[in-house]
Amino acid sequence: MPGFIKNEHTDDNVLAQRLRMVDRQLIRRGIHDPAVLDAMRTVPRHLFVPEEYRLYAYQDSPQPIGKGQTISQPYIVASMTEQLELTPDSKVLEIGTGCGYQTAVLAEITPHVYTIEMIPELYEQARDILYRLGYTSINMKLGDGSKGWQEEAPFDAIIVTAAAHEIPQPLVDQLAINGRMVIPVETGWAGQQELLKLVKTPEGISRQHLYEVRFVPLREES
Ligand code: SAH
Repeated sequence: MPGFIKNEHTDDNVLAQRLRMVDRQLIRRGIHDPAVLDAMRTVPRHLFVPEEYRLYAYQDSPQPIGKGQTISQPYIVASMTEQLELTPDSKVLEIGTGCGYQTAVLAEITPHVYTIEMIPELYEQARDILYRLGYTSINMKLGDGSKGWQEEAPFDAIIVTAAAHEIPQPLVDQLAINGRMVIPVETGWAGQQELLKLVKTPEGISRQHLYEVRFVPLREES
């Protein structure tokens, strides 16, 4: 059609892409928690990635978000969220807000979300977009998340979106009894990481290997 410029970002178009992402990348690979699937259908992922990567927002891959950091692949976000076994009553702590996408997915499931980011620019960008989209009840903090958020502990669920050398003890301490933590940990091999799920039981910590992953490193405050 002469003079017609196709707008790649019409609401219908991105919604169709998002629903296709949920069917092909999540349901087909076994994600089944209805609350997680609904959240992934709702959060406008393309608005969390930088403008130049917006066209790729619904692809089956991670994307750069600036400052050398990345937004995880949709499957990883969904799978980690599912492993947290959230209900609308759960109090959840996220370490590594990044662009705020995972944070928004959590906030679709429970109103009790706490998130910590270390890089000021990312913290500010995430705060702005989350606020603009109406996620105004999320509690955000700038700082070193490996220390957790002591004043707000205990948490029913903790999600770490950067890879640790070792599981930070404050996070284990701040987990409620029966609480779940999902955290990528370096395995000692060059660049190798595994995603672990910890559950705090009255008898101690149970530890389950989920699968191999590749995350940016969890930084330590110098
Ligand atoms: N969940 C994010 C993933 C971002 S990548 C998203 O969906 O975009 C991991 C993030 O962890 C980066 O933003 C990085 O700055 C942050 N990070 C790394 N070490 C940290 C620490 N010790 N405390 C808080 N945030 C940290």
